[in-house]
Amino acid sequence: MFDNKQRTDINELGEFGLIDYLTKAVEIKELSTVKGIGDDAAVLDFSSKKTLISTDLLLEGIHFDLRYVPLKHLGYKAVQVNLSDIYAMNGIASQITFSIGLSSKFPVEAVEEIYQGVLIACEKFNVDLVGGDTSASAQGLVISVTSIGYADADKVVYRSGAKEGDLLCVSGDLGGAYVGLQLLEREKNIFIENPNIQPDLEGKDYIVERQLKPESRKDIVELFETYGIQPHAMIDVSDGLASEILHICKASKVGCKLYEDKIPIDPMTYETAREFGLDPTVCALNGGEDYELLFTVPQDQYDKVKNQLDISIIGYITEEAAGCEMISKSGHVHPIQAQGWNAFKQSSNDGSTA
Ligand code: ADP
Ligand code: MG
Repeated sequence: MFDNKQRTDINELGEFGLIDYLTKAVEIKELSTVKGIGDDAAVLDFSSKKTLISTDLLLEGIHFDLRYVPLKHLGYKAVQVNLSDIYAMNGIASQITFSIGLSSKFPVEAVEEIYQGVLIACEKFNVDLVGGDTSASAQGLVISVTSIGYADADKVVYRSGAKEGDLLCVSGDLGGAYVGLQLLEREKNIFIENPNIQPDLEGKDYIVERQLKPESRKDIVELFETYGIQPHAMIDVSDGLASEILHICKASKVGCKLYEDKIPIDPMTYETAREFGLDPTVCALNGGEDYELLFTVPQDQYDKVKNQLDISIIGYITEEAAGCEMISKSGHVHPIQAQGWNAFKQSSNDGSTA
């Protein structure tokens, strides 16, 4: 993917040279950053706020496939995925650290592309890149991102706060990233069989972007602030709606009713799922990587959420003993089961337990 470009061997720069080269454009903008890159540790100051920290590890071949993920998108997505966890706590993300393990196949130009994506994400979401680590890797690309953010103590939202009677809500639409992935996988396989065929992704921009370039929902956290909405419980949708609903219900010791016909699915997601012979609802329930926010609000906040174009009310919270159930379009009741995508599944065929 970077074969026909200029290739500078990382060894020409050395570790410190590479770090300097990659981070030379980094600017500190956040008030809470006292010291960024360049010392043994970054120094942050959140005065009276609570500090939020979240880390993700991304491995080539497990979490991403460089045969169809452009490096710039990979850097951007790695940051988005991680910021999403801070927003899921109803916090403001303010810093990240970005660590990278590089196998010898990566020239400086490739790492630079990854960093372009990282820096675009930082700029767009107002976070400072304040550190990281850089190492050689025996095989494959390894990325780890840590996000740091803050919130007032009484604004932090946990998975465990849902109460009976709460409305179950989700931002945006679901299933698109999963259907986008199916499309990219199909084109990859066609390409492997016949490299002369160009990928046919015409008219599918939205779902391809949902997969390659997800946007974390900082805007929803800002919307909560603007409208005075304080969710009881919240989680980001990384593994599919079903799995995340169960996380909230388990942590909160409650049950829920989910209405299939209320699950927001974009028309392009819907049509493309059908073309693949997939049930769009199943894609929303069990696909992953949508990075929307799933949350519950008390009923007295109904008026504040009902007219928000980007928020759907998809069900309500019940007592624990009632279980977690979906009412289908035809009125049948199904228990909600977690079959969410996760990286461990790939190795589950060999009989090992994940
Ligand atoms: P140490 O030996 O203490 O780990 P390094 O030489 O690895 O220090 O890092 C020097 C500085 O550069 C530190 O501020 C570190 O956070 C930063 N840094 C190292 N690698 C990266 C990276 N990949 N991205 C951003 N900053 C980095
Ligand atoms: Mg280091």
